[in-house]
Amino acid sequence: FDRNRQRNDERSKAAFELAKQYIPGGVNSPVRAFKSVGLTPAYIERGSGSRVYDIDGNSYIDYVASWGPLIMGHAHPEVVEAIKKTAEKGTSFGAPTEIETLMAQLVCERVPSADIVRMVNSGTEATMSALRLARGYTKRSKILKFEGSYHGHADSLLIKAGSGVATLGLPDSPGVPESVATHTITVPYNDIESVKLAFEKFGEEIACVIVEPIAGNMGVVPPLPGFLQGLRDVTTKYGNLLIFDEVMTGFRVNYHCAQGLYGVTPDLTCLGKVIGGGLPVGAYAGRRDLMEQMAPAGPIYQAGTLSGNPLAMAAGYTTLKLMTPERYELLERLSTRLQLGFEANAAKHGVAVTINRVGSMVCPFFTDKHVINFETAKSSNLEQFRSYFGSMLNLGVSVAPSQFEGMFVSGVHTEEDIDLTIAANDEALSRL
Ligand code: PMP
Repeated sequence: FDRNRQRNDERSKAAFELAKQYIPGGVNSPVRAFKSVGLTPAYIERGSGSRVYDIDGNSYIDYVASWGPLIMGHAHPEVVEAIKKTAEKGTSFGAPTEIETLMAQLVCERVPSADIVRMVNSGTEATMSALRLARGYTKRSKILKFEGSYHGHADSLLIKAGSGVATLGLPDSPGVPESVATHTITVPYNDIESVKLAFEKFGEEIACVIVEPIAGNMGVVPPLPGFLQGLRDVTTKYGNLLIFDEVMTGFRVNYHCAQGLYGVTPDLTCLGKVIGGGLPVGAYAGRRDLMEQMAPAGPIYQAGTLSGNPLAMAAGYTTLKLMTPERYELLERLSTRLQLGFEANAAKHGVAVTINRVGSMVCPFFTDKHVINFETAKSSNLEQFRSYFGSMLNLGVSVAPSQFEGMFVSGVHTEEDIDLTIAANDEALSRL
C-alpha cells in the first residue's frame, strides 16, 4: 500500500472543461461533477471487476458501483456476454419479447409484495408511475414522504429531497409548481409519531406513503425497530397505499429485498439499479388488483418506447441469477470486515465517526451522533468529509463524493480489496 500515492488529473481536467461547453455543468447527473468536494471528476475509461480506471491512468477500488447497480462489479463476463448475444439479434422492437416475461417471473418469485410487475427505464419513472397508480386507485391527491429521502426527480417527490439535492444544499427545486408541492407532506424519517399526527389531520386525503425501507440518500439510515410495521398499520387503517421505494435496496441488501429482510410487505414496490445490471431499468410491482389498474388492463396510463428493452432485460436477468443466497452471505462478510476496520481506525485516530450499515450498504458519518434521520445525518462534519474524500481518491479508493451517499460493496470485491480500503481509510483519517 503506497501512502504517498497522488492522483494525476491533467486529462480529466481538460475533458471536464470541454464537457462544460456542451453539457450543463459538464455532467448528465449533478453529483458527478464533484462540486461539493471542490475537485475535478475522474473521467472513467473502463471498469473491470472491483476496479475503475480513469483517462489519466489512475486505478481505483470502486464503491460507487454506478451509484448502486453494479452488485457484481464492472463488466462482469456473464453480463457482458448476455448483452452481446442479445444485441446481435437487435436492440429494441417496441413489441413484446419472451425475456420480459422471464424477468418478470424472476422478480415476482423473489419480491414478497410482487404479484405482477411493469418495467420502465429508471427509478424516477418507477416512483412517478407508482404515485399515479396510488392516486388513481384511491382517488386522493396527497402523498407523504420523509425528509432527506430521494425518490427520483418527479415534481411531487422533489420536496425536502436527499441525494444530490442535499449534497448541493439546494432548497426545494425551482420549477416545481406550488400547486403540486402542496400535495406533498414531509415528516422526519423514523418518526412514527409525526406520521400519526399527519394522518390525524390529513389521513382521508392521503393516497400513499412512499418510503425508502432503508434510507440511502441521506447517507445510510436503517429503519428503527417497528417503524416500517408502524407505516404498514397506519396506511391499512386509513385505506391508503404503502409504497416501498426499493430502487436502491432492492436485491442489494437481501435476496428478498428490504421487505424480506424486515418482514413488512408494502402494497407497491419500486425497483431500479440492480435489476438493470448497469443498463437503464426501473420497475414497479405489487398486488395484482392494484397493478391491473394500469393500461391496457385498466384505465391509468403509463407507457415507454424502450420499456422492457431486451438489452436491459438480459443484463438485469443475468445479474439477478448471479445473486444467489450465498452471494449475499459473502457480501455480509466483506461488508462487516470493512465496517470493523473503519471503526478501529476511527478509534485509533480519535475521529468521531458513526458507521451505519445494512448488508453491503455502508456509510461512515463524520459525527458522534447516532444517525437516525436527516437532521442527525446533517450533524456530520462536511469539512472533514471533503478532506477524507480527497485523500481516499488520491490513495486509489473511489467513494461517492457526498456525505449523504453510502458505499456499495460488490460480490467481486476481495478481502484484499477490503484490507487495502481499510489501509487507505487509516491514512485518510490520519491526515484530518
Ligand atoms: N429512488 C431511490 C431510493 C433512489 O436511490 C434513486 C436514485 N438514486 C431513485 C429513486 C431514482 O432513480 P433514477 O436515478 O434511476 O431515476
